[in-house]
Formats: sequence, structure tokens, C-alpha cells
Amino acid sequence: MKQLEYLKILSLSKRTLEEYLNWGETEIVKMPTDEIISTEESVKMPSSKKQSGSVLSSKEKIKILKKTIDSCKKCSLGSNRLNAVIGVGSPIADLMFVGEGPGFDEDHKGEPFVGKAGQLLTRIIEVMGYIRENVYITNVVKCHPMIDTTNPEKRSNDRPPSLLEMETCKYYLDKQIEIIKPKIIVTLGASSAKSLLHSEEPISKIRGIIKEYKGIKLMPTYHPAALLRNPNLKKFVWDDMKIVMHYLDTEKI
Ligand code: SF4
Repeated sequence: MKQLEYLKILSLSKRTLEEYLNWGETEIVKMPTDEIISTEESVKMPSSKKQSGSVLSSKEKIKILKKTIDSCKKCSLGSNRLNAVIGVGSPIADLMFVGEGPGFDEDHKGEPFVGKAGQLLTRIIEVMGYIRENVYITNVVKCHPMIDTTNPEKRSNDRPPSLLEMETCKYYLDKQIEIIKPKIIVTLGASSAKSLLHSEEPISKIRGIIKEYKGIKLMPTYHPAALLRNPNLKKFVWDDMKIVMHYLDTEKI
């Protein structure tokens, strides 16, 4: 093996160890050597079962759905948004993240989780051994819920979606789940858990416990924005993600 390859392996191993420690890990639970060859090769891919044959059709179906959502005005959020924010990632992902709704940055860019909370979510995904392109990221509502609906250019103008808005928009999330067929869904924050599980319990009580939504495993956890406000919650999210990773690896709880 060439010196450059050794250096690449060492640098990746160091970065992985630092990331684990950063997320409150006290022991290394998993360090598969065949995944430490290069950054690209260490990224987990969606299951090969779904890669054979259905890639194009899922992609096409998502494209068609996007067109419908782009022109949707089924609830009042559709009147004030700059962009409908459908989702990003693989149309055959095993792992799907569902947040509550787009904020200022997402409304402007037309992509979910691109602000500070989104950057933190990307880090979580990478620590899990994936990249954004290999998972699917979306929200319960596809348009920006604003406090002041007259000014989409105003910062700090976000609010959680109402139950009615979530119920009205959930048809599209259900369609995305039906098309993508993830092995597991991670809901981020109280609103998305409430919408999918119809649970009134606080997120602190239901996080970390695997539930089911339409026959698909579902893990409720904190929203990355909550982690920005309170970094002590990072440890809990990492614990929840370890359960998700174990399920993705073994399909056992
Ligand atoms: S939030 Fe959903 S239901 Fe409401 S207008 Fe946007 S896409 Fe349509």
C-alpha cells in the first residue's frame, strides 16, 4: 500500500474518532475496516435490492409529485411561500428524515434543512456513515409557515405548522413514503412526531423508542434546532441514531 493511502486511512480514522467523541460516545462501537478505504467508499449506499430495477421509476414518480406540490394551494401556506420545498436525497433511500416545515433559508433555496439546523443534520447523517444524497430528507409541510405572512423576506419569522396544515399536507408525505419505501423514518422534533404518531406526549418521553407508521419503523428524536439551543441533547440524539443504525444493519430492533 502506498504512503498516501496510509495517510488517507489515518486521517479518516482520526476524523471518525473525533466525530464519535463529539457526539458523546465513550467507546467505539463500530469501526469496520473495509469501510475505511476512502471517504467515498465509507459511505453507506441504499440497499442493493432496491437499486435493481426501480431507480428510474421512483425518480420519475417523485418528479411528477414535485410538479403537483409546486402548484399546490390546498392550504393557506401555499399563498405566501417563495418555493415549495419537497425533499432532497435518494428516491430509493433506506433512511428518511422528516422535519416539521421549511424555514427562511429553505423557503429561499427550495431545499429542506439548509440553514444552521440543516448543517447539523448533515453532520449527524455523516457520523452515521451516510451522505445527504443517500438518505431522503423532507418535512411534514412543504411550504414555509410564517408568523407574518406578508413578509417572506423577514428573518425569525418561522412558526411550527398547525395541526390543520400538517393534516392537509400529509397526503404528499404519505406519497413520498409510498414511493421511496424507506426501511426506517426518523422524525425530527415534536411536530412531525405528533403528525405521524398522533401522540400528545412530549418529545422527551417518546424519543429513543421505535414506533411504526404505515408498517414502517419510525424513530422520534429531537429536532437539530433544539440541539443548537441545548447541546446537552446531542447525546440523546446520538443514542437514538445508534438504534437506527443497528436496525438498518440488522433489520432487528
Ligand atoms: S403546505 Fe402542503 S398542502 Fe399547504 S399549500 Fe403547501 S404543499 Fe399544499
